[in-house]
Amino acid sequence: MTDLTALDASELAGRIHAREVSAVEVTQAHLDRIDQVDGEYHAFLHVSGANALVAAKEVDDALSAGESPASALAGVPLALKDVFTTTDMPTTCASKMLEGWISPYDAAVTSKLRSAGIPLLGKTNMDEFAMGSSTENSAYGPTKNPWDTTRIPGGSGGGSAAALASRQAPLAIGTDTGGSIRQPAALTGTVGTKPTYGSVSRYGLIACASSLDQGGPCGRTVLDTALLHDVIAGHDPRDSTSVDVEVASMVAAARAGANGDLTGVRVGIVKELHSDSYQPGVISSFDAAVATLTSLGAEVVEVSCPNFVHALAAYYLILPSEVSSNLARFDGMRYGARAGDDGTHSADQVMAITRAKGFGAEVKRRIMIGTYALSAGYYDEYYGQALKVRTLIARDFDRAYEQVDVLVSPTTPTTAFPLGDKVDDPIAMYLNDLCTLPTNLAGHCAMSVPSGLASEDALPVGLQIMAPAFADDRLYRVGAAYESARGPLR
Ligand code: GLN
Repeated sequence: MTDLTALDASELAGRIHAREVSAVEVTQAHLDRIDQVDGEYHAFLHVSGANALVAAKEVDDALSAGESPASALAGVPLALKDVFTTTDMPTTCASKMLEGWISPYDAAVTSKLRSAGIPLLGKTNMDEFAMGSSTENSAYGPTKNPWDTTRIPGGSGGGSAAALASRQAPLAIGTDTGGSIRQPAALTGTVGTKPTYGSVSRYGLIACASSLDQGGPCGRTVLDTALLHDVIAGHDPRDSTSVDVEVASMVAAARAGANGDLTGVRVGIVKELHSDSYQPGVISSFDAAVATLTSLGAEVVEVSCPNFVHALAAYYLILPSEVSSNLARFDGMRYGARAGDDGTHSADQVMAITRAKGFGAEVKRRIMIGTYALSAGYYDEYYGQALKVRTLIARDFDRAYEQVDVLVSPTTPTTAFPLGDKVDDPIAMYLNDLCTLPTNLAGHCAMSVPSGLASEDALPVGLQIMAPAFADDRLYRVGAAYESARGPLR
């Protein structure tokens, strides 16, 4: 019998809808797999077996009654990053601050998944409040990379990526504020897209940095990721930054790309994101990917985005500033953890004790940096300057997209590094985000698709494809073409 966990989401959907296998069997196979292997990887913070099976059975019942499937992915189960609210499971953001907290409402993404008939297997591990690049900042312990369990799976969405790579889920959802979908995808040999800002609702997505956060799809193939992208995208009046525009079908773009013809597509290599300081195996994998794109008919040129070198500095001022404001709501008064409420402390003291106990070191570091950067007297010097750099980066992109349709770079400067290697060195940790940050600062879209394994350590490398706002379909066309020519990863 076929191992159902080895199949791609599109294949599973086809079999479920043709009634060759039931959604309940597919969901059960993944729950069994979670039972068997997640002790080793720790991709999940919470598994919701009973609810997932109920959702799967509803899909099977509807199909038996002759109804057409609720969506192209109806019946295919999914792992949800623990930053989206869910009424039937805890939402913790991997923080002690929200331990055991159950939301009174579902996030927009959660509701869309449910209406699409996608059973939710559980909630995945992440860096606390989505701050980090390795999933080591989880208050519940790190996730391990399924390729090598002594290494990190990337972050902040390491749980979602590891769930895919270890076949515990055929689909997953992440969020990308500075790379948290693409970077884990690259380090685990999976696919992930950061959609254009405003194209996937942030309603019920617990905020890290509101002007940068974006939920997005993760899969093992470009087509699966496109199928999921089409399910979650769309305008939502409950999110004031949601944009009401007609979005192209990502599935159509992926299918068009899969024929492997990129004739007429102009691809730009970002000069500033191709450096001798990157791991040699990453650069050689990237160069080989570019050669493949050329062989598919793409016109490849080098473009310069001079302000990208300032992206890291600007991001690590803008993000903490927004974090310092967003995380003020976790005060121990309204919901979540409360400490020190023993009748001897004032409300202010209870807030301080709660926040001291509830937040981990990285979250505190960013709250302090952000509070400082926004304080009177420093605002213009730091935050104001960072906003100017943000504008310059957006202009670099605009100029580049006058010449090319998509930009490419490695997704990360290195492959997965050993657990513990960078936890005590925030700057070394932040440097992992070098290639992914510009897209978030500009509000554009980008994808990471595996480009093979690095020669020196046989670990996955990601090719990053970037496109202008609301041109997400280009990612899928180019990504699918590249994937079809690349062949299997191992
Ligand atoms: N690694 C980046 C950070 O620590 C990105 C996080 C994210 O995208 N959520 O901020």
